[in-house]
Amino acid sequence: MPAPVVRFAPSPTGRLHIGNARTALLNYLLARREGGRFVLRLDDTDLARSTREFADGIVEDLAWLGIVPDVTVRQSERTALYDAAVDRLIAAGRLYPCYETPEELERRRKRQLGRGLPPVYDRAALRLTAEDKAKLEAEGRRPHWRFLLEHRVVHWNDLVRGDSHVDCASLSDPVLRREDGTYLYTLPSVVDDLDLGITHVVRGEDHVTNTAVQIEIIEALGGTVPAFGHHNLLTTASGEGLSKRLGHLSLKGLRDGGLEPMAVASLAVLVGSAESVRPVASLDELAGLADLGRLSHAPAKFDEAELDGLNARLLHAMPYDEARPRLAALGVGGGAAFWEAVRGNLVRLADVATWWEVVAGEIAPVVTDAALVAKARALLPDEPWDGATWKGWTDQVKAETGARGRALFMPLRQALTGLDHGPELAALLPLIGRDKAAARLEGRTA
Ligand code: GLU
Repeated sequence: MPAPVVRFAPSPTGRLHIGNARTALLNYLLARREGGRFVLRLDDTDLARSTREFADGIVEDLAWLGIVPDVTVRQSERTALYDAAVDRLIAAGRLYPCYETPEELERRRKRQLGRGLPPVYDRAALRLTAEDKAKLEAEGRRPHWRFLLEHRVVHWNDLVRGDSHVDCASLSDPVLRREDGTYLYTLPSVVDDLDLGITHVVRGEDHVTNTAVQIEIIEALGGTVPAFGHHNLLTTASGEGLSKRLGHLSLKGLRDGGLEPMAVASLAVLVGSAESVRPVASLDELAGLADLGRLSHAPAKFDEAELDGLNARLLHAMPYDEARPRLAALGVGGGAAFWEAVRGNLVRLADVATWWEVVAGEIAPVVTDAALVAKARALLPDEPWDGATWKGWTDQVKAETGARGRALFMPLRQALTGLDHGPELAALLPLIGRDKAAARLEGRTA
């Protein structure tokens, strides 16, 4: 197939949440896998709610996930294209002016419902004569514009849901342009998809109902219909939908909370798919697992608590080379030996500070068995120390004191680290070094 061109089209009216990340990633991974292109389209036609800050935040959040768009466009800068499409639709007899007020429409809707009829727009405006229109305009009314649907069944082969269809006879002719000349979402989306050569429209299931209408508009404009795929939506563990405006599980919040982007990306892509949810270390690898055709059709419940486990597993397997610049940024040294000693005890990367403090900083020892610790101090071997030092030393302490198991190891751990849990002491002890170890075994802060 020709290289796909995909787009992610958020409105900059809030920070992205993990559900938006699913849409962005499913698009991006498709493009990445097939050598295609990823367009970021900022749907900022709602000027009252769209802000520059949110737009910048979206770019930043995507970059954090590892997504750098090939092209970025803003709908607010593309009105001329939409106006040109309007002219063409009017010329083709597919867009017609309507003058009803929202109150009039609501009254009509109620009447239809009262009679047991579907509340579909009755196309009364099509019957207005030129004179009627002139009169309404003289009263100061301005038209909004509706697209004249062909009452037919529109089919498409959905990349996720398979053969899909909607009977457009059951829909109201959609309003494309408001009285004040501004656009609702539908037309700009179609015009941009055509103009930018989008080959695959991958978006949330909440847009299925738009698809038939958009296909009709594309055809009315003489465009090529792209492939459509509607993925299942994410809900919170309690089944609630996610909302950008309510700031649900925002990517920024997850990032500020110290999560790895790949932990978030792994969950966002794999939950509700045929693959088990597991930590995946790179977007390339994730691209090989993301398969639109094998997504579940039901909403995918996900548990925020899973993120910690995924994060921990990513860190436990993270090679030193990858960790190195980030450790440096945290002011943590110790090289590969330190990283390999402590990574298995991390949930968030920032936890590394605790162990760096134990190795290179000052801690107050906790002495719970003074006699054992004093004996251990006396038996502390001379340096150089290596990975075998701990075993040799504690074997001796065991032989001299008779203490074994937890009764032997816990007092030593508490004295050496001030904590009752942590990485293998065999690896930690050489990093702590003899001076600090001796002082701590003597009960001194060191
Ligand atoms: N701005 C729309 C949204 O965020 C885009 C929908 C689409 O992908 O067509 O829901």
